[in-house]
Amino acid sequence: MKYTPLSTDILAVLKAIVGEKNLITDADRLQPYSHDEVANPAYHHMPEALALPESTEQAAAIVKLANERLFPIIPRGAGTGLACGAVPIYGGLVVSLEKMNRILEINGDALYAVVEAGVRTSDLQAAAEKEGLFYAGDPCSSDSCCIGGNIATNAGGNRAVKYGTTRHQVQDITVVNPLGEIVRLGSRLKKQSTGYCLDQLIIGSEGTLGIITAATVRLLPKSPYMLDILAVFKSADDALNTVQQILKSGIKPTCIEFIDTITLRSIEKFLQTTVPDSESGNPLIIELEADSEDELDDKTVRLDELCTAGGAVNVLAADSERIWKVRKSYSESIRSESRIVATEDIVVPVDRELDTLHFILTQAEKYNLTTRIAAHAGDGNIHLNILKLRDDDYDEWKDRTDRNQAELFTYVYCAGGRLSGEHGIGYKRRHLMERFADPVELSMMRAVKKALDPNNVLNPGKIFTLDD
Ligand SMILES: Cc1cc2nc3c(=O)[nH]c(=O)nc-3n(C[C@H](O)[C@H](O)[C@H](O)COP(=O)(O)OP(=O)(O)OC[C@H]3O[C@@H](n4cnc5c(N)ncnc54)[C@H](O)[C@@H]3O)c2cc1C
Repeated sequence: MKYTPLSTDILAVLKAIVGEKNLITDADRLQPYSHDEVANPAYHHMPEALALPESTEQAAAIVKLANERLFPIIPRGAGTGLACGAVPIYGGLVVSLEKMNRILEINGDALYAVVEAGVRTSDLQAAAEKEGLFYAGDPCSSDSCCIGGNIATNAGGNRAVKYGTTRHQVQDITVVNPLGEIVRLGSRLKKQSTGYCLDQLIIGSEGTLGIITAATVRLLPKSPYMLDILAVFKSADDALNTVQQILKSGIKPTCIEFIDTITLRSIEKFLQTTVPDSESGNPLIIELEADSEDELDDKTVRLDELCTAGGAVNVLAADSERIWKVRKSYSESIRSESRIVATEDIVVPVDRELDTLHFILTQAEKYNLTTRIAAHAGDGNIHLNILKLRDDDYDEWKDRTDRNQAELFTYVYCAGGRLSGEHGIGYKRRHLMERFADPVELSMMRAVKKALDPNNVLNPGKIFTLDD
């Protein structure tokens, strides 16, 4: 696909749409928009310009212009993505929603919030909490990512075991479609059978089918009683077998997170802290919620029994702030060890998680890979980071990780898994889509993209390429 460079006259029209202060062409200011959280410079590309719309109408006018003049648009939230979805691989115009960051309504009676796409996830969480309510979406990046980005990637995170992923929190979205038309998709209805579920199609489409400018999201009454339990197991086998038992037990935890021993020690070193029994332990962090003290006590006792029967060497009430700091520092601690990392976001059925972990570790030995592993274990979502060490030759390391990746995903697909549990495909994994996605499924996805975005202006080259 040939795109038109952003010429002086296109930039003048863009300036007229968003105002002079909201159109950036200065290279220094554009540089942060050339990448997301993938640090490897091989994935970085400079945009030609950046637009910061302040309304849905401005975003729509930009997309209309892109169709008239044929330039690519790359929607962007906070740029915390891990799949290069917001990277302008063909240059063009990055459209950042960062200035559309107002919480428009919190409705405690009907239990919903209306937010603009650029609202920081933790700001929504805090605003809900102030009203005694609760927003269930909680990616580990919640302090920096945006609701629009969460919706575009169908972000998961820590509470998906009980509450599902971002798509389960969304009631409706305001979208600028790829032709520049404004549409509100979805509704606050409890049920409807009224044609295609287009809101759910846009959710998780990584900016390829629409720019999300606002959303209505579900709020819940906040559970009055909560407890984080730290259960430390001697082996990963014991820990992951116990995950199965917990899910079967009816205790309904909010989350079950797993960190392997080596990774735990690297996080401890990074944070200069210690976690009980970390010398040889494989911890599960399990969060419980309850409506009464008795219910919480009951769940805690049953969980303790399950973990102890499963081989836990220690089960204790955790200091929530401290233990979540450890879990949420997973990515940062890895970055402190190496800037070049192969990051996988494997997802398998939960009952295949343990054998998949065995496969990962066998492969690591076979290819001499330095791994860091944490998992949203209650969701079957394993984060595998493979570090390039200082002495590794880049090409040789890349060759080893590529060969490992091909074998790993062959295994994962045989286990009924997929390429990404929550980070998305973006640009970084699109070659794997070609290789592993069902060809019919892929051709249906391409047909949808072509039908909705005939000029291929919205985030082109992400998830897959079009073959013409
Ligand atoms: C430390 C760390 C921890 C993380 N933990 C988690 C986790 O627990 N769970 C999880 O799911 N992810 C996690 N992530 C990944 C990332 O934070 C999520 O993918 C997040 O949803 C991205 O939001 P963002 O606003 O930064 O989007 P961006 O990175 O800006 O964009 C991501 C994708 O969404 C598209 N997009 C963004 N905004 C819009 C919009 N308004 N309309 C249309 N398309 C849009 C972009 O084009 C791109 O394809 C983590 C990342 C880091 C760095």
